[in-house]
Amino acid sequence: MPGLVTLGETMAVLGSPRPGPLRHAPHLELSIGGAESNVAIGVRRLGHPAAWIGRVGADEFGALVLERLRAEQVEVSGALVDPDAPTGLLVKEQRTPDVTRVQYYRTGSAGSRLCPADVDAAVGVITGAGVLHITGITPLLSPSAAGAVARAVELAVAAEVPVSLDVNHRAALGGAELLRERLAPLLPHLSHLFGGEEELLLLADATDEPSAVARLGGPGGSGGPELVVKRGARGASVYPADGNPELHRAAVPVRALDPVGAGDAFVAGYLTALLDGAPVAERLRLACLTGAFAVTVPNDWSGQPTRDELGLLDAEAGTTLR
Ligand code: ATP
Repeated sequence: MPGLVTLGETMAVLGSPRPGPLRHAPHLELSIGGAESNVAIGVRRLGHPAAWIGRVGADEFGALVLERLRAEQVEVSGALVDPDAPTGLLVKEQRTPDVTRVQYYRTGSAGSRLCPADVDAAVGVITGAGVLHITGITPLLSPSAAGAVARAVELAVAAEVPVSLDVNHRAALGGAELLRERLAPLLPHLSHLFGGEEELLLLADATDEPSAVARLGGPGGSGGPELVVKRGARGASVYPADGNPELHRAAVPVRALDPVGAGDAFVAGYLTALLDGAPVAERLRLACLTGAFAVTVPNDWSGQPTRDELGLLDAEAGTTLR
């Protein structure tokens, strides 16, 4: 059964469990995180195969990344252990109950040394997939990582594998100009383009959504990708590639604990429904549901649901399942 393949950097994550300046945290919790592997985990939990391609260092953090992904049954045969660079690290500080500060230690990391030859070594994983998912993070990590993404897209397109991209703009990696420069060559090859409202304006260099949609795909944009706009607690919209009108869906009401990771879980739901062969309205429904699951737990990815958990958000507060 063809599933999802993705490539990018997955880092070790150190996070303080309580609000306050990090220096006063009595201990930190260790986990892993990466937008692309978060999506792979989400898709896998919902029952489709998922594979991740990337580099980790020959260190404990790298071992942790691979161990966690294997435990989630994400295929890592295309992952490499780089003896010459460390695994990247992300430190999350819950500065106040409502504000999270994130610090990256990824310059020169193993993940940023991903290169086209790594992708060539995993060619069958890409050409045999049902969808290739990439993000705007990887091309900004380094020129070689940008080359790896371009090579993956080339292989996918040649094998008629649909390509999905989530803008995931990380300002620490580069500004709007670099983002546009690195993503421009990929845009003509996309079947699905995901982004937040601001990200799509940034990518299209537009000041309003209709102009961004006209530039990136959507209504009347013949041959453009299906454009999916993530609107946080206000839900999400799709501008279908066939030019049909915008389809909006409200968010699923939940008690939100941590908004980070909602976007990846949303994409995982959307692409799962795509792999199911479901129509656009169902893709959007499942995406809003999986996005809502993610905000109910503090960790970026651990709250993503399995298929038989999808009804849990309908349960009344205080429900005990036996
Ligand atoms: P991330 O913080 O992971 O980068 P993002 O900005 O990419 O997130 P969001 O728009 O925050 O993505 O969230 C993606 C989707 O998750 C939304 O479109 C919505 O369907 C769902 N979602 C987000 N926040 C909430 C919330 N508070 N309650 C319910 N659903 C939510």
